Amino acid sequence: MNILLLGASGSIGSQTIDVINKNPQDFTLVGFSVGKRTRCISYILKKHPSVTHVYMIDEAKAKYYRKKYPNVTFISSKTNKLEDLIDMTDSKMVVNALVGFSGLLPSIHALKANKKLALANKESLVVAGELINKLLDQGKGELYPIDSEHSALWKCLKVSDTHVKKMILTASGGAFRKLNRDELINVKASDALKHPTWKMGDKITIDCATMINKCFEIIEAGYLYRYPYSKIGVTLHDESYLHSYLEYEDGSFRGEISKPDMRNPIKFALYQGHITFSTQSFKSLSDLKGLHFHEFKMERYPLVSLAEFVLNKKGTYGAVLNRANEEAVHAYLKDEISFLDIERIVFKMMNEHKNITNPSLSDLLKVDNDINIKTHEVIEKIKKGEMTW
Ligand code: NAD
Ligand code: MG
Repeated sequence: MNILLLGASGSIGSQTIDVINKNPQDFTLVGFSVGKRTRCISYILKKHPSVTHVYMIDEAKAKYYRKKYPNVTFISSKTNKLEDLIDMTDSKMVVNALVGFSGLLPSIHALKANKKLALANKESLVVAGELINKLLDQGKGELYPIDSEHSALWKCLKVSDTHVKKMILTASGGAFRKLNRDELINVKASDALKHPTWKMGDKITIDCATMINKCFEIIEAGYLYRYPYSKIGVTLHDESYLHSYLEYEDGSFRGEISKPDMRNPIKFALYQGHITFSTQSFKSLSDLKGLHFHEFKMERYPLVSLAEFVLNKKGTYGAVLNRANEEAVHAYLKDEISFLDIERIVFKMMNEHKNITNPSLSDLLKVDNDINIKTHEVIEKIKKGEMTW
């Protein structure tokens, strides 16, 4: 199957390349995109002479690569939109390994073009879950999740999707899980980037530390599996071996247990679930020897509570949540604001927002733009010491 990979230079992107490299009989890479980091281009082109098109942000670098590889078409943010790559390449599947809002338009474009979409970019569903489900309901494209929790739930639902009482997402608790809230005042991004069990991109690492990542994943599960907020729970789990689980009405559980390695969910999505897998049934979490679980407390990670807001009220709240967080995280990564400012900013933007129900794509883009401006005004005030909470 011909594959177009968006975000090839990132953590999920490079692991997708590993999966394709290991399964050359089933997958052919026909195109890919990178952002500002272009160093992986030559390696990928050498391994995959099947690539016809490459996108990158910087036009000057694109010019350099056009000379170096005259048989490949290089486009840049100056000449094209990222989603143009979807129309230009002969692909059946688009793997979206982009981070943040940059993944939204490519996701929508891929579905509209009837592609199979293997989606790591959960932000697409946070911002536009309703719109994406509408496209799927109209028979446009197909959607396969890459997120490890949702991949585990997919497998468990494949085994048995009746009499499910709850789906439960497991969470590591992020880099600062051992600290109480008072100890979070001075924590720096550089400390957060030492994440316990997964090596991931910078943004998702901070998202894990604030646990807005789990908030996003509840929303993601809600849209993917059409489950209401009331049927989705969270459990803290130290080792990241139990990737998520279902609780059935008869009191039994089923989950997927394996060594954390994102190549597994990536592979499962690339094969659209048509490969062997194993899940495990258990009577209680305490039966899972050697694995440690803790009760999730909303007071410790208040951002998670916003999932209820987004899944129940829908509309443009997801767009607000995503953009306020994205800008706050960028500012935190640059040491411009404190860790707890991230959640203050996100709550402020959500509280002040007037929801638009059944938004069109242009409504979502407008809200995204407005929140971007508003969030930067608040960040500037924080930097000048003028913000009072
Ligand atoms: P990353 O930062 O390592 O990679 C992001 C990729 O997107 C890079 O290739 C970058 O160049 C590209 N990109 C960023 N902004 C761009 C723009 N404006 N235009 C074009 N390209 C752009 O991120 P990651 O950790 O690989 O995460 C990717 C997605 O997968 C995120 O949505 C994340 O939440 C999700 N995810 C990641 C993991 C993980 O283990 N890393 C696990 C589950 C889900
Ligand atoms: Mg996840």
